[in-house]
Order: sequence, then structure tokens, then C-alpha cells
Amino acid sequence: MNENIIRKMQEIVGEDWVVSDLDKVSSYCEDETEKAVKPKVCRDCVVVKPASAEEISEIMKYANENKYSVMARGGGTSLSGAAVAIMPTIIISMERMNKIIEVDEASLTVECEAGVTLLDIVELFNKHDSLYFPIHPGDEGAQVGGMVVMNAGGVRAVRYGVMRDQVKGLEAVLPTGEIIHAGGKLIKNNAGLDLKNLLIGSEGILGIVTKVTLSIKPKDKHIGSLLVSFENDSDAVNAVTEIFKSGIKPLAIEYMEKTAILRAAEDIGMTWPSNVGNVDLYFIVSERKEDDLYEMYETIVGICEENNAVESFVAESSKEQKTLLEIRSHVYPSMHKMVVDAIDAAVPIKNLAKYMEGIKKIYEKYGVEISTIGHIGDGNMHNSILTEDAEKPECYDEIVDEIFNLVIECEGAITGEHGVGKVRNERLKLQFTEKELNLMKAIKNVFDPNNILNPGTAL
Ligand SMILES: Cc1cc2nc3c(=O)[nH]c(=O)nc-3n(C[C@H](O)[C@H](O)[C@H](O)COP(=O)(O)OP(=O)(O)OC[C@H]3O[C@@H](n4cnc5c(N)ncnc54)[C@H](O)[C@@H]3O)c2cc1C
Repeated sequence: MNENIIRKMQEIVGEDWVVSDLDKVSSYCEDETEKAVKPKVCRDCVVVKPASAEEISEIMKYANENKYSVMARGGGTSLSGAAVAIMPTIIISMERMNKIIEVDEASLTVECEAGVTLLDIVELFNKHDSLYFPIHPGDEGAQVGGMVVMNAGGVRAVRYGVMRDQVKGLEAVLPTGEIIHAGGKLIKNNAGLDLKNLLIGSEGILGIVTKVTLSIKPKDKHIGSLLVSFENDSDAVNAVTEIFKSGIKPLAIEYMEKTAILRAAEDIGMTWPSNVGNVDLYFIVSERKEDDLYEMYETIVGICEENNAVESFVAESSKEQKTLLEIRSHVYPSMHKMVVDAIDAAVPIKNLAKYMEGIKKIYEKYGVEISTIGHIGDGNMHNSILTEDAEKPECYDEIVDEIFNLVIECEGAITGEHGVGKVRNERLKLQFTEKELNLMKAIKNVFDPNNILNPGTAL
């Protein structure tokens, strides 16, 4: 990396907060994207650790004047190559901007710097009697800023939506160096165009988020888990549709192929409580009153039985609930060494059965395992293409083409939560018209006329 850039970074943030040693820089240059699809990593980078929006502003002004590439670095948990450096880059690590600024119980908000991790937030509210932050994408190393720009989701989207539904306001530094504020603690705010929602889900290409105000919720006193097994997908999907129609909103409804969940249980030496059927639905429910929780169990089980469920299991004790959650959380790690590509498309619930049927046909046609788990309650399925050594099979391109064509045929989105990053860019034209894509590119150009902020990402 150019010595002048390193010196300038030291001038702005202080020598202690600039890392240019290749060994130490290396781990900041890539994310958790599967090896087989990860873009080629460039390690000719410098890592800068600013402590304020003002320091970031100085960095951006300098980079913009000199047309140097910059990328924000959160927890590095992206699964779409968004946090992979593909050219010499000034990597702005947000790790020092990790203060919780205020829990405002009257407005039901928490304000924090963007480098606060999901784990920090979870621990903060574990200590709180009655409030919590409901969004939980799987990896607690993710930072709030990363979760905002990736519009992260996770299992609880069924009741609480995604980050976009919980971000009230934010502060960001533009690629040209100005600091802007968008949104706030207001419930109603119709003034101007909505810059906050433009930055949410922008995958870090429009600005560097430095502060965020998040909505928090009252905790339900009673939480429970329920497992229901089915012989086939269409019965499981029909049950989910009927549950929503009945007015019930579980916290989460997860879908798991039996093979995937049993593999996960075996991998960590635990026992999954159901051995019958081919697919399981795992419900997490919560209510203020215990009686309401039991009524909810009964309604869900009743609806599932009407849709040919073959077995159901209520996890009564917190130990049983923990076991279910632990095994479910281990599904992805248990197959990680075999995953070539994890496609996280989302389709409308009405088309889920058609989508899952289509995936099975692709699996049968090519003879390559496609393991399906996912957030069935919001139509976001994770289809992982598996091989023994996680290397791309010969027919990889054909499989992926067929899956994405199926997604579009089912009126879906090519990614439900992991984002386009640097791995799905080519597929965008399946989902959007040229005009729509040009509008997006024009917006990027207004924010970032020199295309310095994380080029090659999201579009
Ligand atoms: C095991 C595992 C499970 C996961 N489960 C889920 C899940 O259930 N749901 C889900 O939605 N995602 C999930 N993810 C993906 C990932 O955790 C999310 O995308 C997360 O939001 C990324 O946050 P991060 O801080 O790690 O961002 P990074 O990976 O560091 O960066 C991702 C992108 O955000 C940009 N960025 C980071 N911080 C900022 C900032 N402050 N300002 C501007 N841009 C920034 C980066 O430049 C990059 O473009 C999972 C990942 C793993 C590894």
C-alpha cells in the first residue's frame, strides 16, 4: 500500500490506529463468504480504526480527492462478499466506535455507535428487566452498522420484520466526506425524501453509517418452542399459510429438512426429538400470559394436524428449548465444509411449495445435493449446494442458473437477506429492468461521484 496513504491515515487517526502489516491486514480483507464463490481477495490494503464520524469524514475527503478505494469493515460476517477487498483499499474498521449511547425507555429506542456488535446488544438487554432488541441474524459478531446496511433479517422476521423495520434514525458519512443525519426518534416524519431507508440495505456503497437509533420492544414473559414433523413440503407450507390466516404470529417459523437437522444434532452429540417425517417446522412463540402461550400451542398443533403433520413436540422446559435452538443453530456449521454456495432466495409464501418442488427437481436432474433449511415464515429459504470438498461441481453454473430462473418464475428475490455483495451482481438483471438498474446506478453516482466506496458491490 502506498506510503503516502499510510502516513495520511496516521495523521488523521494516530499511529496506533493504522495497521499496514500484511499479516495483520489480511484478516480484515475478507468475510465469511463460501470459499468456492468468494471473489479474489486483494491484501494490498491498509486498515484504519477511526474513533469518530469526524475522523471518518477526513478519511473520506482525502480518499475522494485522490480517488482511492475505501471499504467499511464491520464484523466481517457477510456471506455475499460485500466485505471482501478486491483492489487496494483503505479499510475503515468500525471496531473502536462501539459505544452504547442511550437506552431511551420513553421512546423505546437504543442509540449506539455503528461498531457495537449484536452480542453487545444482546448482553445489554439480557440485563434489562423488560426490554429487548428483537432482530437476531445468526452471527453475534455482526455489527449494528453492518446489520443496517445489509438490512439483516434472521429467524424473528416473522413477527418483527428486518432491520429496516427497526431502524429509527442514523448518522452517516458520505463518500465525499459530509456527515448527514436521517430519521430520528419520531413515530411520524413525512418531511423530504427518505434518506434513512436508502442507506438501509445499501450494502455500504452510499455512506459509512456511524450512529444508529434502533427501536426496542417489551419482552414477552413466556417463551416456548414447538416442533412439528411432516412427510412433505407442501403439507408444511399449507400449515404455515393456515397458521397466518388464523391470526397467529409466532416469533419464528423455521423449516428444516430432516437430513440436515439430524446431521447437525449428530455433529454436536445431541439428540433431535423427532425421527419421523421428512421435514420439520420449528416454531418459537412468545406471549405475555402463560395461558395464551398454551392456547397458541394448541391452535398451531391443531392446524398442523389438519395438514397431515405426523408428530409434534412441545419443548416445555428451558433446557429442551435450548437444545432445539442449539441444534438448529448448528445446521449451517455442520455442513459448512461441504457448502459450495448458499443461495438465500425469498419467494412469496403462496409460491413456496412450487419453489421447493422445483429445487428438488434440479437436485434430481444434476445429482448434486441441495440442502434446504430456512426462514419459511417469511419465504426466505437457504438452499446450499453441497459437495464433499466444497469445490464447485462441473454443472455448478447450470444448477445456479436454474435455481435463479426458478426464483424469478416464483416472483421471488435473488437474495432475501445476505445481499448481492460481490457474488450476485450478474443476477440482478434477472430481477430488475435496465431502467430500474440504471436508477440505482444513478443514485450511487449522486452519493459517490468517484465510485470510491466499496466499488463492485451491490449493483
Ligand atoms: C453464521 C452466520 C449466520 C448468519 N445469519 C444471518 C441471518 O440469519 N440473517 C441475515 O440477514 N444475515 C445473516 N448472516 C450474514 C451477516 O451476519 C449479515 O449480513 C450482517 O448484517 C453483516 O454485518 P457485519 O457487521 O459482519 O458486516 P461486514 O461483513 O463487516 O460488512 C458487510 C457489508 O457492510 C458494509 N459495512 C459494514 N459496516 C458498515 C458501516 N458501519 N457503514 C457502512 N457500511 C458498512 C461493508 O462495507 C460490507 O459491504 C449470517 C452470517 C453468518 C456468518
